[in-house]
Amino acid sequence: MTREGTGPILVSPMAEGIRFQVTGRSSETGARTGVLHTPHGDVRTPVFMPVGTQATVKAITQEELRELDFPIILGNTYHLYLRPGHELIERAGGLHKFMSWDRALLTDSGGFQVFSLRDLRHVGDDGVIFKSYIDGSEHEFTPERVMEIEGAFGADIAMAFDECPPYPSSHEHVREATQRTHDWAARCGESVRGGQALFGIVQGGVYRDLREWSADRIVSLDFSGIAIGGVSVGEPKQMMREVVEWTAPLLPDEKPRYLMGVGTPVDIIDFVMLGMDMFDCVLPTRLGRNGSMYTTYGRINIKNARYTEDFTPLDPECDCRSCRNYTRAYIRHLYKSDEILASRLATYHNLHFYQRVMKGIRAAITQDGLIAFRREFMTKYSAGDDA
Ligand SMILES: [Zn+2]
Repeated sequence: MTREGTGPILVSPMAEGIRFQVTGRSSETGARTGVLHTPHGDVRTPVFMPVGTQATVKAITQEELRELDFPIILGNTYHLYLRPGHELIERAGGLHKFMSWDRALLTDSGGFQVFSLRDLRHVGDDGVIFKSYIDGSEHEFTPERVMEIEGAFGADIAMAFDECPPYPSSHEHVREATQRTHDWAARCGESVRGGQALFGIVQGGVYRDLREWSADRIVSLDFSGIAIGGVSVGEPKQMMREVVEWTAPLLPDEKPRYLMGVGTPVDIIDFVMLGMDMFDCVLPTRLGRNGSMYTTYGRINIKNARYTEDFTPLDPECDCRSCRNYTRAYIRHLYKSDEILASRLATYHNLHFYQRVMKGIRAAITQDGLIAFRREFMTKYSAGDDA
């Protein structure tokens, strides 16, 4: 695995219509740029994918996501299966048509949700029985069933069904969950719908031997991309970093590497440096709805009284629509009045901020100045107001 200098351009053949190309490398770190070619357009990596849990990135329209230049977003299998149901979405013509999104889509496998929610009924080697949080009805997810559901959604990228153990969990418990994840990964590979790219997920908790075992096993299967799952589930940040440090070097160079559920802008810069290509996180949207905004000079909480008469934009260095047109004082007033527009303007700005960071990262890798980019970013960002 070459990590030094600008290595050769690699093209990885994957499922029909999907292909990943490494286009540049950082000589100082493990970072690389790439292009993931999908049937719904090209995705430049490193990429941040907004989370569209219920087939909507909360508070934002699909037109706005296009305007913000996101090439790919996520849908949640668990939620969309329970409501409105995969059959209905298939009758609508698939998730792209149903939600009117003509760019790339990735669906998770529901594994994370099934295992993190309390209404888990039974976990066996065949699959999982769980209760719907909507009406209490019982459902079963097996690898074959999840591939059928994700197939009905028809996203460009489907994720394999995995068992994501909570933190903390014993070595024995994580070992069993990782074994199941491996068995299920092979079964997903046999039942994925034609035309969809399937990504495998490395599990193993915070145990190095299990992460190495899992990486070895998942990489040996013929997946279009490899994800690191089971991180950002409550473990200390240093531990999450160690897990990625152990695992990322074991992943094939020619395939896209996806770090699931991560993270803050600083996390993303750091994990790009370890060679990760794809990220998703609810932070920019969730924090936006809660009145917390990312700015060049750190995060601010707009509900703070100091913004009552602050007639400047959310971020003085941002040229997004929210910052061009509205002030902190106005947006604070909207929050205090529980107005929907507050969430709309904050979410739009936070997503724009993430995009600005990702564009900066890609440009810095291309110019081979990622470490300087991180330093400059941190100098301003840690001057933060309220964060
Ligand atoms: Zn802005």
